Amino acid sequence: MMNIDVKRNLHEVLSRLPEGVRLVAISKYHPADYIMAAYEEGQRVFGESHEQEIREKHEALPKDIEWHFIGHLQTNKVKYIAPYITMIEAVDSLKLLREIQKQAAKVNRVVKVLLELHIAEEATKYGLTLDDCRQLLADGEWRQMPNVQICGLMMMASNTDNEQQIASEFQQGADFFDEVKTRFFADDANFCERSWGMSNDFPIAVQHGSTMVRVGTMIFGPRVY
Ligand SMILES: *Cc1c(COP(=O)(O)O)cnc(C)c1O
Repeated sequence: MMNIDVKRNLHEVLSRLPEGVRLVAISKYHPADYIMAAYEEGQRVFGESHEQEIREKHEALPKDIEWHFIGHLQTNKVKYIAPYITMIEAVDSLKLLREIQKQAAKVNRVVKVLLELHIAEEATKYGLTLDDCRQLLADGEWRQMPNVQICGLMMMASNTDNEQQIASEFQQGADFFDEVKTRFFADDANFCERSWGMSNDFPIAVQHGSTMVRVGTMIFGPRVY
C-alpha cells in the first residue's frame, strides 16, 4: 500500500513551477505503482539512475513515458538504454558521448543529451569543469555525431543549507549556458535546457535559469535503499 500521497505531492511541486519549467519526476528506488499514481495525473517524464532498474520499469510501464537517465552512466551500459531512452542527462566525457553516438546509430535513433557541469564544491561529484566543457565543445567532434543531440546543461548545487551559495552556483550555470549558447549553439534552437533543481533547492533553481527540475523525494517520499 502506498503510504504517501503521490498525487497531492505532484500537484504541490507542479504548482510551484513557473511556466516553461518542466518536471522530471525522479522515481529511482520507488515501485511502479508510485510512478503510475503520478502518470494518472498526467506526468510523463520520469528519471532514473540505474540501468537495470530503468530497464525493468520501461518494460513494465506505459510506452508513452519519456525516460531520462540522470545518474553516472558507464560506457558499457549505454547499449542497454540506447533503444528507448529519451535523454541522458549526465554526460561528462567525450568517451561517453562517442559511445552514445555509436549505440544510438545502431538502433537508428537520436538520443538527447545534456552535458553535466561540476560547479558544486563537493569533490566527489561527477561532471565537467567549465574549462573541460568549453574544451569538449571547442574540439567539435560532437558536430559529427548525427545520432546525438546536445540539448543543454545539467548540474547539481552543493548539498548545503546556505541558500546564497546554492543561488550563486545555479547562476554560474546559467551564465555559462549563455556563454556556450552564443559561442557554439547560436543557430541551434534545440540547445535550450538547463536541468537544475532537486527537492530541497528547486525553488532557488527556477529563479536562476532552470528549465527542467529533477524532483524525487518531495513527490515520492524518502527512498528505501
Ligand atoms: C536522486 C537525484 C535527484 C532527485 O533528488 P531528490 O532530492 O530526491 O529530489 C535529482 N538529480 C539527480 C542527479 C539525482 O541522482
